[in-house]
Amino acid sequence: MIMCSKLNHRTEEITYEGLLRGNKDWVAATLQEDPQFFERLSAGQKPPVLWIGCSDSRVPANQITNTNPGDIFVHRNIANVVVHTDMNLLSVLDYAVNVLEVEHVIVCGHYGCGGVQAAMGNKQFGIIDNWLRNIKDTYRLHYHELDLITNDTKRFDKLVEFNVIEGVFNLTKTSIIQNRWADGKKLGIHGWVYSLDTGLIKDLEVTTESNDHISAVFKMDRPKQEQH
Ligand SMILES: [Zn+2]
Repeated sequence: MIMCSKLNHRTEEITYEGLLRGNKDWVAATLQEDPQFFERLSAGQKPPVLWIGCSDSRVPANQITNTNPGDIFVHRNIANVVVHTDMNLLSVLDYAVNVLEVEHVIVCGHYGCGGVQAAMGNKQFGIIDNWLRNIKDTYRLHYHELDLITNDTKRFDKLVEFNVIEGVFNLTKTSIIQNRWADGKKLGIHGWVYSLDTGLIKDLEVTTESNDHISAVFKMDRPKQEQH
């Protein structure tokens, strides 16, 4: 079993050509360890997990969970935001849940997230301001608690957590997830936060595994002909 957690102690700077050289080195090292690796993976994928994480280069899903190619289906965007109108995310979610039949969906944020930090401020950054406004909405939902935290770092950390929790909550509002649960399929939606300082993941313990606790207003009844 290959572990991809090993660090590449490279001395040269990252260059375009270096990426292609790195690829060849990685293929050679992988084949040496597991000659059937690519043959096996090329036959298809059956990952048990969908990861919704931040685009931040320091939070790669496979490495920080010590998993391999083929283990995790991944969607990343700036600040791991889950928005109802994001067709990219909804397509990934639908495919992961209904075709790949993943049993876990993990929203993983990270402390020190630049996107969340920008959402806490008032500076304009361009188009991204519109994306990050979703996090400002989350701040508004929880301002009673957030505004009481006088330490800036702690308030920042708390908003990172609320952004993940809101992501988990938003996933449970989708008909994709609700129909899966209505069909009696095993599916857990989880919220995690990764620490850049320690490398450790904190489980926010907001795992949701059924339609039981969804507020009435967010429950999505299927059209009659689709019920079974
Ligand atoms: Zn981030």
